[in-house]
Amino acid sequence: MQDSPHNEFDLIDTYFKNLTSARADVELGIGDDAALVTVPANHSLVITTDTLVPGVHFPVATAPFDIGYKALAVNLSDLAAMGAQPAWISLALTLPAVDTAWLHDFTQGMSQLAKAYQVQLIGGDTTRGALSITLQAFGFVPVHHALRRDGAKAGDKIYVSGTLGDAGLGLRIALQKPDDLQDPAKQIILQRLNRPTPRIELGLLLRGLATSAIDISDGLLADLNHILQKSEVGAHIETKNLPLSPPLQALPSEDAQQLALTAGDDYELCFTVSPEKEPELLEKLTTIQLACHCIGEIQAEQGIRLSGFTGNLTAWGFQHFAEP
Ligand code: ADP
Ligand code: MG
Repeated sequence: MQDSPHNEFDLIDTYFKNLTSARADVELGIGDDAALVTVPANHSLVITTDTLVPGVHFPVATAPFDIGYKALAVNLSDLAAMGAQPAWISLALTLPAVDTAWLHDFTQGMSQLAKAYQVQLIGGDTTRGALSITLQAFGFVPVHHALRRDGAKAGDKIYVSGTLGDAGLGLRIALQKPDDLQDPAKQIILQRLNRPTPRIELGLLLRGLATSAIDISDGLLADLNHILQKSEVGAHIETKNLPLSPPLQALPSEDAQQLALTAGDDYELCFTVSPEKEPELLEKLTTIQLACHCIGEIQAEQGIRLSGFTGNLTAWGFQHFAEP
């Protein structure tokens, strides 16, 4: 057991200083007024920030390990969607009080994922207030090789990674009475909500292949729509081709399809590829352990057309400031 930290500086030394492994490109990490890092030659620096607020981005009862894990996962997911190689993170943490057990678990969750991707925590800020976790992630990509939202063209095929709607089902389960949460099937689905896997390898593989990409944080339709708007195109989606995990397949099909189309938090990638590059994509995809499925096609006519969906879509996805 470590001693309880006595002040903000002890806290930083105890919990944040050695949270991650050291990288050679970090000249100066935690402990000075700012960090110093070296971006490789001929690469763009890719920068993203995401904030997690309890009750909005995770159920209030979420385990602190999972909060730490997810805070990093959602930021790495943004880097993945840009085709970036992750390198550094900085953490702005607002805490109501110094709860050492909470801090231990939170930093362990973050550390587990950071070490898996050789990401180093290089700085941050610690303040008192209502719990809020803001993480900034930095990565790099060869100049002009980032995956963007604005490159989709009519005729491109639309792909998604993994399966869709799992986190949405996980949220339903998490908000139910915790009767049999130990059920292994429920645990798998809850993991999809609480410990999303950033699709870094896929993002790297898609460099020079995909014409556009986005990570699905707010729901497939809502996020695909961002690609369509930026690219000034439309899409046709074949609902029966949406990849569903066994727990989703066990639901009434309209319910499962609705989750797959509109539920957020899956952090899968949605991307487009030209028909000419599709064979190369399919060949390269055999080198990673992640299935990707074609779910439709980009069209010149704007808007989204769904085939095979008989349900009633009330909303497209999660919005923080949507009108009631
Ligand atoms: P300053 O007052 O100069 O802004 P701080 O006292 O806030 O510095 O932080 C001291 C050092 O600890 C800095 O290098 C800062 O980046 C780091 N730090 C503070 N909070 C965190 C945190 N939550 N995670 C990682 N590093 C942190
Ligand atoms: Mg400060």
